[in-house]
Amino acid sequence: MRELVAETMICHAEIAAATMKMCDEHADFRLPSEREGEWRFRVHFGSMILERRDEGLKVRVSAEDETTLSYMKMGVAGHMERYLGSTECIRWHGDGCGSEKPVFFREVGVVSAEQLTPHMRRLRFSARDIGRFAYGGIHLRLLFPPQGRKPVWPKMGPDGLIKWPQGDDALIVRIYTIRDINVEEGWFDVDFVMHPGLDTPAAKFAQSAKPGDVIGMYGPGGEYLPDGQHLLMLGDDTAIPAISRILGHLPEDRTADVWIEVDGPEDVIPLKFDNAAIRWLFRKGRPAGTAGLLSETLRKLDRASLPDDPFVWAACEFNDFKEIRRIVRKEWAVPRDRQLVIAYWRRGAQGDEARSEAA
Ligand SMILES: Cc1cc2nc3c(=O)[nH]c(=O)nc-3n(C[C@H](O)[C@H](O)[C@H](O)COP(=O)(O)OP(=O)(O)OC[C@H]3O[C@@H](n4cnc5c(N)ncnc54)[C@H](O)[C@@H]3O)c2cc1C
Repeated sequence: MRELVAETMICHAEIAAATMKMCDEHADFRLPSEREGEWRFRVHFGSMILERRDEGLKVRVSAEDETTLSYMKMGVAGHMERYLGSTECIRWHGDGCGSEKPVFFREVGVVSAEQLTPHMRRLRFSARDIGRFAYGGIHLRLLFPPQGRKPVWPKMGPDGLIKWPQGDDALIVRIYTIRDINVEEGWFDVDFVMHPGLDTPAAKFAQSAKPGDVIGMYGPGGEYLPDGQHLLMLGDDTAIPAISRILGHLPEDRTADVWIEVDGPEDVIPLKFDNAAIRWLFRKGRPAGTAGLLSETLRKLDRASLPDDPFVWAACEFNDFKEIRRIVRKEWAVPRDRQLVIAYWRRGAQGDEARSEAA
């Protein structure tokens, strides 16, 4: 497969300091360290070379496909926007340039809706050309257009950043997981938790969605199959789709212990994987994110009975996430590369705000 490549020359008075910041922030990925004014980064989805020139910083990104290349460009531009306050000095040339349509965006239509449990609703969406959504990340950003207006979708800027529609055309963005996908037939499923709240755009959309309704999506992104012989997984209702996807890809010779917190037995979704032991924890009417059942379970675990060196994966409400992360990092001292603990939502906060420590 031909490697795709894009380049830009960034000329800016502060570029030397910005380059150092970028290298420092990615110290873990730097390979090798600076060699004669050149830095090379290799991450699992692509690579980047920064080369100091008299006129500025030459950046070359490369990747196996256009989506990944686009993410690499976006990553560089996003960092430079933070360091330099502007991206006007970034103009990409090479593969994937010249089109305003983001390669990772699709307009998608609802095909069907199914109530799986009292608190979980599955929507099936159809879309064209979704092969790239079947690997390299299991999550999506769903883009909800304002009701009653013709949707205006995001465009790519020449700097590699997304230009979002503003004002009356602004989109509401929420992160979800691709529960299942069939590339040949052109459909994918998303399972929505039907949660309480006054203003819940995604849950409300799922509640009333009907065939033919149109939204946008972009992705994929996020988690990969965690490393390790044994997985310890903890999640609430919102994590069920991710847990299912990850277990569905778990090789036969690897094992998992899984705990899932839902409201009650009627919310259990049958998940059957030969190499995973799944236990359900019930909140019994207590609001989601207040029962603390996942961290309690982790605290009570007899670590000596666990296989050596497990990978700990957890996804849940923000306060649960903080407590689980504390146990995993401080009490268990699990190395950073053996854990992935994420807040999927936060009580009282909307969308992506939910995941910020400052929210
Ligand atoms: C990587 C990732 C993957 C995710 N995958 C899924 C998925 O597959 N399915 C899924 O249902 N969710 C998933 N989520 C969580 C989802 O993005 C959030 O629940 C999101 O906030 C829902 O948007 P909303 O518009 O319905 O509510 P928002 O407008 O975001 O929030 C409105 C109110 O509802 C509350 N709220 C939000 N979510 C919940 C909840 N689950 N339970 C109780 N109260 C809630 C908020 O605290 C807020 O007060 C995922 C999140 C991440 C980060």
